[in-house]
Amino acid sequence: MRLHPWNLAAWHDLTGDRTRLPHALLLHGPRGIGKRAFAGTLAQWLLCEVPGGEGPCGRCRACVWFEQGAHPDYRLVEPAADGSNEGDAGKKGGKHITINEIRSLGDFFGLVSHQGGWRVVVIQPAETLNAAAANALLKTLEEPPADVMIVLVAHQPGRLPATVRSRCRKLALARPARAEAEAWLSGQGLTDPATLAEVGGAPLLALEYAEPERLARRDRFLGVLARPGADVLSRLAQDSQQRVDECWGWLARWLYDLLALQAGTAARYFPDLEPALRELAARARPAALWQCQQELMRAGRWLRHPLNGQLLLESWLLRYLDALEGRRDG
Ligand SMILES: [Zn+2]
Repeated sequence: MRLHPWNLAAWHDLTGDRTRLPHALLLHGPRGIGKRAFAGTLAQWLLCEVPGGEGPCGRCRACVWFEQGAHPDYRLVEPAADGSNEGDAGKKGGKHITINEIRSLGDFFGLVSHQGGWRVVVIQPAETLNAAAANALLKTLEEPPADVMIVLVAHQPGRLPATVRSRCRKLALARPARAEAEAWLSGQGLTDPATLAEVGGAPLLALEYAEPERLARRDRFLGVLARPGADVLSRLAQDSQQRVDECWGWLARWLYDLLALQAGTAARYFPDLEPALRELAARARPAALWQCQQELMRAGRWLRHPLNGQLLLESWLLRYLDALEGRRDG
C-alpha cells in the first residue's frame, strides 16, 4: 500500500512526531482520494520494524506479514456479509458493521502485542457502524488500551455519533488540485481528463470509472441524453436495467449541469459536452427539470432495493424528455 502524493502533507503532520500519535484517529474526506491507502500505510508503518519518514520499509518481517494480510497485531474491520444485510446478496461485504465485529476486538485488545509494539485496528467505512456497534466501540475509545491505535475511516463523518467523533483526533484529507490529479492520472495511463470532472475531482474514482467498457456505456447513455427521443430512451432503459445505479449517477449529474447552465454558471461534471448541454438547457423548462432532479434524488434511496430497474429508468427518462419538450411545444 502506498500514499498518494497529495496526501503527503497530511501524512507528515500526523507522523512527524512519533511520541505524539493519537490512540484514536478519524480519517475523513470525500470518496476516491486515498483514505484507505492512507490508513493501511499508517497501520503498516506503525508495525514496521524500520519505519521511514514517508512510510513503512516494505521489506522487514512485519511488512511482509502485513502485506500478506497476516500480521497478528493488525485488524481490519469492515461490514460483514451476513443475514442482517439483506439486499446485498452478490455484493462484496454487507451494509453494516455489527456489534459482534466490535466485540470480537475485545480479545485482541486484551492481548499484549506479539511484536512488542503497536496494535492497530482500521475500521472502514466507520459510518457503517450500527448504533450498538458504535456504543461498544465508544467504551474502548473512552479507555483506550496502551499502544493501540484505532483508525476510523469515513466519507461522511457526520453520520457517526458525536460521542465517537469527540474521542478521536480528526484528520481531513482533501481532493488534490486538478493539475496534480491529472498528472497522477496520466502516470497511471489515463489521459482523458473528462472522467476527473465527472467524479468531482477524485482521482481514484476517475481511475475506477475509466474502465473502457464503462466509458463506452457512459458515452452511449450521454449520447442519448443529448439527442433524446421516446423510442431511443425506452430502448436505453431496457438495455441498462441491470445497471440502474450507474445510469442514475449519469442522469443526476447531467441534470445538475443543465440546471447550472440555466442558472448562468458552468457545467461541472461534463464540461466537455457543454455545447450539447447548452442547447438543451436553452429549450428545457427549468421547473420541470428541477422536478425531474428531485424525483431522481428521492429515488436514490431505493436504488439498492430490487425494484424493476427498467421501469424506474423509463420513468426518469420520460420525465426528462417531458421537461425538454415542454417549452418547444408550448
Ligand atoms: Zn518494514
